[in-house]
Amino acid sequence: MQQHQIDILRSQTVAPQLLFIDGKWQPGTGSQLEITSPADGEVITTIERASRADMQAAIKAARKSFDDGRWANQAPGERKRVLLKLADLIQQNELELAVLGVRDNGTEIGMAIKAEPGSAAGTFRYYAEATDKVYGEIAPTSASFLGLIHKQPVGVVGAIVPWNMPLMIGAWKLAPALAAGNSVVLKPAEEASLTLLRLAELAAEAGIPDGVFNVVTGQGSEVGEELALSMDVDVLVFTGSGNTGRRLLEYSARSNMKRCYLELGGKSANIVFADAPDLDKAALGAAMAIFRNSGQICVSGSRLLVEHTIHDEFVAKVAQHAENLRVGNPLELSSQIGAINSQRQLTSNLEFVAKAKEQGADLVTGGEQILQSLGGYYMQPTIFTGVESHHHLAQHEVFGPVLGVTPFNNEAQAIALANDCNYGLAGAAWTSNLGRAHRMIKAVNTGGMFINTYGGADVTMPLGGVKQSGNGVDKSLHAMDKYINLKTAWIQL
Ligand code: ADP
Repeated sequence: MQQHQIDILRSQTVAPQLLFIDGKWQPGTGSQLEITSPADGEVITTIERASRADMQAAIKAARKSFDDGRWANQAPGERKRVLLKLADLIQQNELELAVLGVRDNGTEIGMAIKAEPGSAAGTFRYYAEATDKVYGEIAPTSASFLGLIHKQPVGVVGAIVPWNMPLMIGAWKLAPALAAGNSVVLKPAEEASLTLLRLAELAAEAGIPDGVFNVVTGQGSEVGEELALSMDVDVLVFTGSGNTGRRLLEYSARSNMKRCYLELGGKSANIVFADAPDLDKAALGAAMAIFRNSGQICVSGSRLLVEHTIHDEFVAKVAQHAENLRVGNPLELSSQIGAINSQRQLTSNLEFVAKAKEQGADLVTGGEQILQSLGGYYMQPTIFTGVESHHHLAQHEVFGPVLGVTPFNNEAQAIALANDCNYGLAGAAWTSNLGRAHRMIKAVNTGGMFINTYGGADVTMPLGGVKQSGNGVDKSLHAMDKYINLKTAWIQL
C-alpha cells in the first residue's frame, strides 16, 4: 500500500447517504446528520437521522423476507456462495473501505486495513464455510423414539454496533447471523456509519436478497431504541457501553423478552511479573495494549499491574514508548496513532485525566490534547502511576489513551487487584513460570487471557466477557449459537 493511493481515495467526495431498506436505497422520513472527520474536521457527507417509522419499515421488510424463506430456505451451499462472494467484494474494495472508515472514525490507517476490511472479509469467509457444515443432532433417547434436534434460524436479528471498529464488529454479528439463515436490521453508530452503508451495497451486489440485510442509521436513543423495543425482533446483538446494554435489557423486558447478547467493554488488567521472559517486549506490549487506536478498543489493557521490584524500571520503559509514538493524521502511513473519535470522547478522556490527578495519581507522561492545528481531535498517550483500586481510573473504562499503573507484591495480590473490578473482558500475564501462567488464566475472572503477549485477533477464537463486560461471544463457531434456535422433534417409532 502506498501513501499516494490513500491520498487519492481520501480526496473523493462521498455522496449524501440514504437508508438501505428492503434492498432499496431510500431517504429517511426524519432529518440528516452531518458527518465530520475526527482526523481534520472535514465535513465528509451526511447520513440519514432515520425516524422510528423508518426503523419499523426496515423491521417489517426483514420480517417478511424471513417469513417467506427467500434466504432461510435456500440451500446452505447457496447461502455459502453468496457470503463468499461478499467476502471477495470486501477484499477487492479493501483500501477504499479502510480509507472511508478512517475518515469517518479516525483509526490509524495501517491498523484499519487489517482490522476492518481485512478482518471483515475473513469473518464472512469463515461463516460462509460453516453454512453447509453445521449439522443437527439425533438425541440418545429410548429405542422407541427418534429424537431430532434441528438447528433453525431465530428469525429477525437486530444488531447495534459501535464506532470504534464498525466493519470488524459488524461482520462478527452479521456473518454468523446471515450464515444461519436469519434476516438482519443493522443500526450503526452515529459516529461511524459509512463503511456499513457501503457494506450493504456490496451485500446486494453479492446477491443477498432484498430485505435480508437492512441498514438504518440515526440516533441510538431513537432508532436504536425502536429496534430494541420491537415485538418483531427475535434476538438483539450489541457491542457498546454498559449504560446502553442495561437499557437494551430493559427494552427487551418491556417488549417481547428477546434474547440480548451484550459485549460491553472492559478495564482489562495487564499483569507484569518480574520473571517475565523479556521485559522490553512486555513494555512494548503494555504500551501498544493501551495506545493502539488511541485506546478505543474494548479489550485494551488499561490497567497495568507491575510487580513492585521492577515497577520503576518497567514504567520508565513503557513511558519511553508512549513518548516516542507518532500521533498524527490517521490517513498518513507515518502516523502510529490516529485520532480520538469525537469531541465528546476527547472531553471525556480529559475529564478522566483531571479526576485521576484530583484523586492523587501521579502523571508520568501525556495528559494533554495535541495537534489542534490539524483541525481534528488528538491526545497524548498518557500514563498515571500510583493508581489505587478505588480510584475512578481503576474502575471505569476511559476508551482513550490513558493507562493507570498499580504495583503489587505477590501473585495473590495481583489476582485480587485484577478481579477488583466490575468488568471481566480480557487480561494478560507476563511470566516465565508455566505454573503461574496457568494459575493466572484460571484465577483472573475474564472472558479471555493473553500470556506473554497482548492481543490476538483470529476469528477462530471466541471473544466475550463475564461480569459487567457482557454475555455471549462473537467469533468462532460458538457465536453461531446466538443466531440459532434448537427445535426438537419426538417421533414415536
Ligand atoms: P459509546 O458511548 O461508545 O458511543 P454507546 O453504547 O452509546 O457507546 O453506543 C453504541 C451503539 O449503541 C451505537 O450504535 C448507539 O447509537 C447505540 N445506542 C446508544 N443509545 C442507545 C439506546 N438508548 N438504545 C439503543 N441503542 C443505543
